Amino acid sequence: MLLTITSTMASAPDLGYLLHKNPLHAQVFNLGFGKAHVFYPVVEPERCTAALLIEIDPIGLVRGRQGPPGEGRTLEQYVNDRPYVGSSFLSVALADVFGTALAGRSKERPELAAQEIPLEARLSVLPCRGGEAFLRRLFEPLGYAVMAERHALDEQNPDWGASRYFTVTLTGSKRLGDLLTHLYVLVPVLDDDKHYWVGDDEVEKLVRHGEGWLATHPERELIARRYLKQQRSLARQALEQIMAEEQPAADEVQADHAQEEAEIETRISLNEQRIGTVIAALKQSGAKRVLDLGCGEGQLLRALLKEKLFDEIVGVDVSHRALEISRDRLRLEQMSEKQQERIKLFQSSLVYRDKRLAGYDAAAVIEVIEHLEPSRLAAFERSIFEFACPGTVIVTTPNAEYNVKFENLPAGRFRHQDHRFEWSRAEFEAWAKGIAARFRYNVRFVAVGQEDAVLGSPTQMAVFAR
Ligand code: SAH
Repeated sequence: MLLTITSTMASAPDLGYLLHKNPLHAQVFNLGFGKAHVFYPVVEPERCTAALLIEIDPIGLVRGRQGPPGEGRTLEQYVNDRPYVGSSFLSVALADVFGTALAGRSKERPELAAQEIPLEARLSVLPCRGGEAFLRRLFEPLGYAVMAERHALDEQNPDWGASRYFTVTLTGSKRLGDLLTHLYVLVPVLDDDKHYWVGDDEVEKLVRHGEGWLATHPERELIARRYLKQQRSLARQALEQIMAEEQPAADEVQADHAQEEAEIETRISLNEQRIGTVIAALKQSGAKRVLDLGCGEGQLLRALLKEKLFDEIVGVDVSHRALEISRDRLRLEQMSEKQQERIKLFQSSLVYRDKRLAGYDAAAVIEVIEHLEPSRLAAFERSIFEFACPGTVIVTTPNAEYNVKFENLPAGRFRHQDHRFEWSRAEFEAWAKGIAARFRYNVRFVAVGQEDAVLGSPTQMAVFAR
C-alpha cells in the first residue's frame, strides 16, 4: 500500500518539517501488523513528494489469532487484499508515523501547519465500496478535486469486468493536518472493513477527528455508520455529539418515525390526552412563563397558545427541521404582533447547559428523554434541574409495560425507532426520585391515558416542583 503526498508550495521541501520526517533520510517504523517506510522520491525547490509505504505481514496478522470455530486456519486469513490496499491499517500508520502532523501541529513550522497549501495525495490502491460516485460524494464536499482510475478485476480477462479498486488522486489547497485527517477517517469508510474491534473509544476518535468538517458533511450519517462498523448505537452517539457541537441539520428520520409512533398510538388518541394532562398540570402550578423542551412539531405549543394564562411560551428543539415545521404549523408569520410576542422558538440541545433556559416558571419535557442516549441522561439532568432550574418540570415518557397492548407493535420493539429505551413504571419512578433527591425537588406521578389494572397507563408522567 502506497500513499504519496506532494506539495508544490514555495520551498516545497518544508513538507519535511510539517511531517516531522527529514526528506534526506529514508526511515522505517515498526507497526504491530508490519512496517511503514517513509521516504521522499522527489525533493525539488518547487515540488516535494513524501511517500508512506506500508508493508503488512499477513502471517504476523494471523499468528496468535483464532480462526472461525471448528475450521482452523482458512486460506482467506493468509491470502487477501489487506497488504496491498488503503484500509484502516493506513489510518493506524498515519496516526503512528505522522501523529503530530495529523493533529495539525509542527514544531519547526507552526505557521505553515496552520496554512492552506497546495497538496496532492495519491493512493495507489483504494477499495471503494459504493464506487467512484461514493468516492466523489465523500471528498468533493470537502473541496478536493478527485481523479479516480478504476482497475479491472483481471487485466488478462477484461470481460470479467471492473474491480472495486481504484487509484485515487485528491488535489486541493488544504492544511496538511486536514488532509491527513480526511484520509484517516474516510479511507476506512470507503473500504468499509476495519481490522480491529470498534468500541466506545472509536466514537471519541470520530468526534475528535471529525471536528470542524463532519457535522456539515452531506454524507455524515453514512460516514459515521461505516466508520463505526455499522454499529448503529455508536454511530448515533457519535453523530449526536458531533451535531450538538455544530449546527444540527435536518432530522428527517425523526419526522418519519414520529408518524409511525403516532399511528401506533392513535387508537386511543393518547397524544391529545397527554397534552390535556400536561396543560392541566402546568395551570395547576401557576406558571406563566413556560418552556417546551424538545417541542418537536409544536403540538403542545399550539395548545399552550390557546391558554391566556401563559404569557411567555418558548419552544426548544435540537432539530432545525422540527422547529421549521413548528413555525409553519403555528403560522407564526401570520400571527398578530401581540401573539408573536408571547412565543419564541430556538434551537438548543438539552444535554448542554444553555443560559437562555434559565429563569422560567415551568418546563415540559414531553416524550423526549427516551430519545436521549442513556449515557447523556446525566448531562440532561444537570442542564435542566441544576442550571435551568424551573419551578416546575413535567416529564412524560412511554410506560414500557403497556406495550403488549399495542396490537401493531411487535413484542420487544419500542414504540418509535429512535427511542433508546422505554422504561417500566418502577424504572421511571426510581430515576425521577433520584433526581428529586439530588436537585431538591418534590415529585409526584400521574398516569396518562386509559389505565390498565395490571399494566398501568400508556404514558407515565412525573411532576417535579421545587
Ligand atoms: N415533545 C414533542 C416531540 C417529542 S419527539 C411531542 O410530544 O410531540 C422528541 C423530540 O425531542 C424531537 O423533536 C427531537 O428532535 C427532540 N430531541 C431529541 N434529543 C434532543 C436534545 N438533545 N435536545 C433537544 N431536543 C432533543
